[in-house]
Amino acid sequence: MRVYNFSAGPAMLPEPVLRTVREELLDWHGIGSSIIEVSHRGKHFSEVIARAEADLRKLLSIPEDYAVLFLQGGATLQFSAIPMNLLGGGSADYVVTGAWSQKAFVEAQRIAPVLGGRVRLAGSTEESGFTRAPRPEELSLDPEARYVHVCTNETIHGVEWLELEALQASGVPLVADMSSHLLSRPIDVRRFGLIYAGAQKNIGPAGLTLVIVRRDLMALPWEGTPPVLRHDRMAENGSMLNTPPTFAIYVAGLVFQWLESLGGLAAMAQRNEAKARLLYECIDATPFYRNAVEPRWRSWMNVPFRLADESLNERFLQEAEAAGLKYLKGHKMVGGMRASIYNAMPREGVEALVAFLRDFAARHA
Ligand code: PLP
Repeated sequence: MRVYNFSAGPAMLPEPVLRTVREELLDWHGIGSSIIEVSHRGKHFSEVIARAEADLRKLLSIPEDYAVLFLQGGATLQFSAIPMNLLGGGSADYVVTGAWSQKAFVEAQRIAPVLGGRVRLAGSTEESGFTRAPRPEELSLDPEARYVHVCTNETIHGVEWLELEALQASGVPLVADMSSHLLSRPIDVRRFGLIYAGAQKNIGPAGLTLVIVRRDLMALPWEGTPPVLRHDRMAENGSMLNTPPTFAIYVAGLVFQWLESLGGLAAMAQRNEAKARLLYECIDATPFYRNAVEPRWRSWMNVPFRLADESLNERFLQEAEAAGLKYLKGHKMVGGMRASIYNAMPREGVEALVAFLRDFAARHA
């Protein structure tokens, strides 16, 4: 029996995609083996990766002057690779709005001196407990910076922000960690210099990292950068300087086809907004539960919440699991609960969670 899986990642994948994988695993399109048992440079896998890239370009309307890279190492490796590729001995601004942008900033601080460059903290919402996006007047931006780094959906704190005009005013390229909401709604790729995301939430299985980068920004890699971490070298080699994560790319390609079949990202946005509204309304309806994020900045993807009486936490998790609602425990850094409701979570899953939340509150209030 499949359960409703609220894990932040690796997360639920669309059931039709998993069915296709199961069907195709012994014999992909009549070739007598699976697609993960053939050369990544052969005809069959070349078709798979080319179609995946074309479908992704279509879903996000990615312009031709942006490269699409299928990489490994997770979003975490990009915390180092991005300064290696973009810093060029200059300075970069980092805005910290939660645990993930903090980690990116700490890594950039560590590596910048090695690269002969600098990083600055251009704004932080830590004093609010990471419950909102920064206000324009809280940002101190360097117009000469090589890039400004943000995380547009903080998976742990549940803050999502795409109102980035204040950051873009000076024309400094914006670099965004979109690991936990890429493909959940339309975005205008042109507003960004580089977008990156680990795949294991909305894109596909773990092991794949997507980078979408404006080609002119690949011109200044630090010369000590290992070739597989160089965006320019990977772009020149079709993401195949070495063996790419073929299984993850294949499944991600199926996810792109699934998204297209449902009407693309505008349709996903409608579904995701409606699912999130249902859940936040339920949480706000009773003091039994609480989500601390300012409503305007609440994530459609990751919904952290706490019980007013935290002595009930264990009981809550046990009963939820018994009801087929799994992995609701919050990240250890913040505690409490978290429901991740990515693209593959059906509305029925959120409805089942809401019914459980109401019932649990009624029984324990
Ligand atoms: N950035 C964000 C926003 C994340 O949610 C995560 C993982 O959950 C990461 C970065 C790290 O990704 P990875 O584990 O793929 O390195």
